[in-house]
Amino acid sequence: MNPIFAAQGTSIFARMSELAARHRAVNLGQGFPDFGWPEDVLERAAEAVRNGSNQYAPMRGLPELREGIAAHYRTRQGLEIDADQVTVTSGATEAIAAALMALITPGDEVVLFPPLYDAYLPLVLRAGGIPRFVRLAPPDWRITEEVLAAAFSDLTGLVVFNNPHNPASRVFDEAELALVAEHCVRHDVLALSDEVWEHIVFDGRRHIPLASLPGMAERTIKIGSAGKIFSLTGWKVGWAVAPPPLAAIFAAAHQFIAFCTPPNLQQAVAFGLGKEDDYYDSMRSGFAAARDSMASGLKERGFVALPAEGTYFVLIDLAASGVSAGDVEFCERAVRECGIAAIPVSVFYPSESATNVVRLCFAKRPETLAAGLDGLAKARALFR
Ligand code: GLN
Repeated sequence: MNPIFAAQGTSIFARMSELAARHRAVNLGQGFPDFGWPEDVLERAAEAVRNGSNQYAPMRGLPELREGIAAHYRTRQGLEIDADQVTVTSGATEAIAAALMALITPGDEVVLFPPLYDAYLPLVLRAGGIPRFVRLAPPDWRITEEVLAAAFSDLTGLVVFNNPHNPASRVFDEAELALVAEHCVRHDVLALSDEVWEHIVFDGRRHIPLASLPGMAERTIKIGSAGKIFSLTGWKVGWAVAPPPLAAIFAAAHQFIAFCTPPNLQQAVAFGLGKEDDYYDSMRSGFAAARDSMASGLKERGFVALPAEGTYFVLIDLAASGVSAGDVEFCERAVRECGIAAIPVSVFYPSESATNVVRLCFAKRPETLAAGLDGLAKARALFR
């Protein structure tokens, strides 16, 4: 058996969702919304299923969706791309796997920014990459020149970047992005930029794609997700956008992983991407309202939360909240004894070290948030 996967436990998202179901807990662990999907997009998918759009799609995706994705980024992010540069994938995680297989030559050093979305590291290792970490730390999770300079070298082949960042809930600012881009250009490094949260940014922030920085367009594979844009995470429709040579090698990997993605869902997503600004604005304001209500509920119950600049997640600082437990212990007992599932942030660091930080998904209806807050208050009482 392959030792990297033999050593892997079950993903924290699967584990916590399973525990939540078993203990009938409110699930604020795995990040998925329980409101917000557009009915007309669902209707399009249902129609497409009924109208016979049920056989293999083209390997790189339906032309109408590839064009829709290119147009989406041309108009919303000013990227000069065309449909040939787009490959549709079965979720962003498949796109990440395909990109890592396609871009890493065994022995390449790969720069990563822990806390890490859990798929990155095992896939980098399996592809033969040697990880170099730019460790981000609470409460501000800032990228600095000093840590970047220590991680990049002449052996660096790839940087795996994530912005907005899950689980830190950071939207990196222009200065931080410029630092990352300068290091990529200086060391002639490829970039995999996981931007699945690009539309879920708050308080007037604007998403800046890494590929828009000087020297980056020709070296960046950008990953996006329809699951996040339309609050349909179970659809597993994602994509990768890359300059032509990288798009070709990306597709060479993708063709042997998922090969193609359900055509009916692709049709519905292509339709959805045609929505006007007001769709995106109201999606964002719905999640911002949920975030604010979660933040005030947490505060009322004695929790100290870190600022959530983007994504579906708010982080609580247990130590500052008067909880005398590490994040893992807190989450394990909270789901079993208090009916609330959350994610301990320490699992996203490469070497096991307990943190005081717990991730909560706030993309929920008011009644779900209220039930979750009740559970959290009980869990806080366990450790006081
Ligand atoms: N992106 C989701 C999260 O961070 C989880 C994805 C998954 O469950 N694989 O919660």
